[in-house]
Amino acid sequence: MSIFKKKENKTIIAVLSGKGGTGKTLVSVNLACVIPGAVYADCDVEEPNGHLFFKPINLKTKEIGILIPSINEEKCTGCTKCVEFCKFNALAYVGRVMVFEEICHYCGGCTIVCPEKAITEVNLNIGKVVIGDSEGTRIISGFLNVGSVSGVPIIKDIQKQIKEEEHTVIVDCPPGSACAVMESVQSSDYCILVAEPTIFGSHNLDMVYKLVTLFKKPCGVILNKCDGNENPSKEYCIRNNIEIIAEIPYDSELSDINGNGEIAARVSQKYKDIFMNIAEKIPKVK
Ligand code: SF4
Ligand code: SF4
Repeated sequence: MSIFKKKENKTIIAVLSGKGGTGKTLVSVNLACVIPGAVYADCDVEEPNGHLFFKPINLKTKEIGILIPSINEEKCTGCTKCVEFCKFNALAYVGRVMVFEEICHYCGGCTIVCPEKAITEVNLNIGKVVIGDSEGTRIISGFLNVGSVSGVPIIKDIQKQIKEEEHTVIVDCPPGSACAVMESVQSSDYCILVAEPTIFGSHNLDMVYKLVTLFKKPCGVILNKCDGNENPSKEYCIRNNIEIIAEIPYDSELSDINGNGEIAARVSQKYKDIFMNIAEKIPKVK
């Protein structure tokens, strides 16, 4: 069933890859362009590149913060209960309690266990979510501040925005298979795994395939940069009976368009057709 036939039903499509540089953003950006009314959500908050292609306007920015502990030294008796409680080693006692903000997981536990009520929570800005428009496509991008460790709170905020959207959403996930990827994938109805035609590509594909299988998400693979030679990622798909949605050939024209920060489906009829064909093959799962 095509996503175009039931536009009134929203579908959330997560696009993943085991590492950066496979073409995940290329696929996400171009699919969001060819699906009418689609929303592009960039959850790759450490390196959000989608906005560079879309160049959105009418921007609205929301700052994202986390609550971290602040110690009132006048009240603190040095009992070290908070230090013993923190399983992330974000607190240390060296004559006074020190807080290592970078590794605090903002669980709030130390505030609760402190018998002297010497700990309060204060806001620490870690990044922002920016929403804008680009030729009919809504663009939601998350940005993690340099030096901030976890982008998960930013991704959670993007996921909230996605829930409010009425149309198909393309989620550009972070690369790999860590917490941030899991957070990005959870709400999706279907996952597209993008893979390169190399041994490393098949290894990375295996990693993300196991992740989406763990979450019981239906998925298909787009093989990118296909050069007609041996393709270990394709062999992996055949071996594991995974649907291959498309094989995008290696093409210097596409590399040039991409390298210039342009969207292939907007500037090339050939690529518009290719990505429309890909969109038509994505099953409507709701
Ligand atoms: S909020 Fe949680 S993670 Fe952060 S310092 Fe306190 S106990 Fe540790
Ligand atoms: S639990 Fe409270 S009183 Fe004890 S060391 Fe930590 S901040 Fe100080």
